[in-house]
Amino acid sequence: MTITRFAPSPTGFLHIGSARTALFSWAYARKQQGKFILRIEDTDLMRSTEESVTSIIDAMHWLGLDYDAGPFYQTQRMERYKEAIQKLLDDGKAYRCYCSKEELDVMREQQKAQGLKPKYDRRCLHGSTKKDGVSPVIRFKNPETGSVLWDDLVKGKIEINNMELDDLIIARSDGTPTYNFCVVIDDLDMKITHVIRGDDHVNNTPRQINILQAFNVPMPLYAHVPMILRDDGHKMSKRTDAVSVMQYKEMGILPEALLNYLARLCWGHGDEEIFSLEQFVEWFDLHGVSVSPARFDMKKLLWVNAQHIKIKSNDQLAVMVKDAFKLKNIEIEYSQIDLIKVIDLVKPRVDNINNLVTECAIFYQPDIVTEEDKEKHLTIDALAILKKFAAKISQIEWTIEAVKLAVKEFCAENQIKMPQLGMPLRLKLCGETHTPSFDMLVFILGCDEVIQRINS
Ligand code: GLU
Repeated sequence: MTITRFAPSPTGFLHIGSARTALFSWAYARKQQGKFILRIEDTDLMRSTEESVTSIIDAMHWLGLDYDAGPFYQTQRMERYKEAIQKLLDDGKAYRCYCSKEELDVMREQQKAQGLKPKYDRRCLHGSTKKDGVSPVIRFKNPETGSVLWDDLVKGKIEINNMELDDLIIARSDGTPTYNFCVVIDDLDMKITHVIRGDDHVNNTPRQINILQAFNVPMPLYAHVPMILRDDGHKMSKRTDAVSVMQYKEMGILPEALLNYLARLCWGHGDEEIFSLEQFVEWFDLHGVSVSPARFDMKKLLWVNAQHIKIKSNDQLAVMVKDAFKLKNIEIEYSQIDLIKVIDLVKPRVDNINNLVTECAIFYQPDIVTEEDKEKHLTIDALAILKKFAAKISQIEWTIEAVKLAVKEFCAENQIKMPQLGMPLRLKLCGETHTPSFDMLVFILGCDEVIQRINS
């Protein structure tokens, strides 16, 4: 059975790039009808926090990336790692190293002076430098010859000569296992078949494969997916970019739109731009993931979001709008104005949920007209026109066609252009001049409400 995992380090929120990795890992498992595991890599005690774990899990939940097992915590598996390290020591595949930092610095300087690539020279391999009172680190005895080869499901064949690889420290002097070692044991114990992760980990892979081989176990398949960069090609940064998934929620992005956008950033299915998560799972294939880094484009994301807002049913959007109204203390329970009609009118105009809420809100809680608008558009003449218009619509049957016709006739009868009615009318009805088509606005508000607002 296919088993994939997402293995975030809880040192902050869920990063947008990590969300993309999680999505690919999740989708691959779902497509293969396998399992998707969540593993929290919290061995860096200085930087890992409980809040980060919570915020990562919340973000996964918001995105709808459900997992079949976990969250597993590395800090709860320490005994297992220690036992595995002991096995390597017993088998002569790892050794204790007593070298001090100073000693290693001198060694490196000497190697550099000789034009060599700095690499641990194994002086402790035979225990000859054992020092009393010094707690040793434990190093993995990397093979000296041959090479590590794997067929990356995204990047293709990769081969690294073992000469290039150092004897990795797998346990610190206080006995705690190091990151690369924990990952290997976890992937092994959790029977991971496909390691799908960011290509910033590609350098770890040969080391991890060598450790797996030291245990004589088969290795999983690897897929290293490209980084997501800013649109100028630089790394995204917390200071200048929205890098946390939940920031996108706050911006009014729908989770399905964010996932659609992230999927499309480094993968494609013909010309398909807009798709559901179900469609993505059906189409997704690791071989289709691009090798080159992706560039984040906020405008494109908003466009994708606008398409998903249009696809969403009015009922679903109404639930979101009502929740937002509650927070803003906007009362709609006793209103005659039908929220579903309002949403239907507004939704083609917006590219995020916050704007949808704001535009819907003006139907229920008109904005205060600014002095500037008042002077410019609500002149005595304009007010007189509005009063006449109120009289006209009080006579008609209330259908959208009749409202549209009444507007047309009214302008013709009074020899005015559409904006001469539209501008003051919009202001009176909503408090602002940028509203959806005003005949729809009039229709949805209803005859009594329109007349009342004109006369207010
Ligand atoms: N914990 C690593 C990270 O957050 C992921 C390691 C892996 O997927 O193997 O980048």
